[in-house]
Amino acid sequence: MQIKAVVTRNQGEFSVEQVTLQHEPKAEEVLVRITAVGMCHTDLSVKGGMIPSPLPIVLGHEGAGVVQQVGAAVQGIEPGDHVVLSYSSCGKCDACLQGRPAGCVHISLLNFGGIMPDGTKRIEQNGQEISTFFGQSSFSEYAVSHYRNVIKVPKDIPLEILAPLGCGISTGSGAVLNKLQPEPGSSIAVFGCGAVGLSAIMAAKVKGCTTIIAIDINHGRLELAKELGATHTINGKDVDNVVQKITEISTGGVKYAVETSGVPQVLRQAVESTKSLGTTAVVGAPPLGTKVEFDHLGLVSEKTITGVLMGSSVQQIFIPQLIELYKQGLFPYDKLIKIYDLEEINQAAEDSESGHTIKPVLRVSG
Ligand SMILES: [Zn+2]
Ligand SMILES: [Zn+2]
Repeated sequence: MQIKAVVTRNQGEFSVEQVTLQHEPKAEEVLVRITAVGMCHTDLSVKGGMIPSPLPIVLGHEGAGVVQQVGAAVQGIEPGDHVVLSYSSCGKCDACLQGRPAGCVHISLLNFGGIMPDGTKRIEQNGQEISTFFGQSSFSEYAVSHYRNVIKVPKDIPLEILAPLGCGISTGSGAVLNKLQPEPGSSIAVFGCGAVGLSAIMAAKVKGCTTIIAIDINHGRLELAKELGATHTINGKDVDNVVQKITEISTGGVKYAVETSGVPQVLRQAVESTKSLGTTAVVGAPPLGTKVEFDHLGLVSEKTITGVLMGSSVQQIFIPQLIELYKQGLFPYDKLIKIYDLEEINQAAEDSESGHTIKPVLRVSG
């Protein structure tokens, strides 16, 4: 079918164009009419060339919409269902079989390799194949996705609010709720107050952390961090020694740290701000090949550094949990969202890069 989609060919502007989608779902696939799609920093990193993915490509990996058709082998998802799309995993490797799809050995290929899980490409334009992103390519009117990538959601919350649960919001909150699992009364420092960091802060509050320190260089974001649960804020521009400041606030260092900026010096600060037995979750994605230095002896005091991908979550379990928390007012992530029309995608990207908008969501259809 002929559809409107945003094509990315290079580092220039996003371009809304007509493309052809092979829309007929195969046995394990689902066709979704996209209502709204969040913009995540990873979309911009691929467009900017920091994260490699074969171009041309239709980006977008926080799609939300209404199911149109399902393949013969799909169970539990029906036409008319509201769904959120998330990341792809193979379902067959050790990690997937252990119920830990974020550790899928094929995760890079399935999400950044430009192909669907069956190895094909489904979008084309004038005979040229266009790559798929995260098994969904949801900067588009329609998306075909494997059922493992599809999460059924309630119909009483607008899809434009639900869309960012597919990546950014679940990445930050999952780092805390699924990976670190801080004890009530514990301390945590969150480095970077974009959508991922602010989600981590809200999750820390849900878990009952009583010292929640937000670190950023943007005053507005730090104010929002306070509103969402941070007990202390540090503006890196105003403070000579961030680690020392955190150590003072937490009387000796925090038990947990979350690094969302992807900046190597900030990761080092995060690790140094934890006390003995402390754990740092590495969430931010730097350009491929980035190296980071630590004080070797500093780690020997029983510190842990752990990577966290996609909030270490099984999205079919985790996203409904986040929705329940949202409904009860305990996870007010809608405060991060600003809605744009799909045609305004370049403005949305500019506002995201400048920090003006924390979580842009593109409205694709009504
Ligand atoms: Zn796998
Ligand atoms: Zn993302």
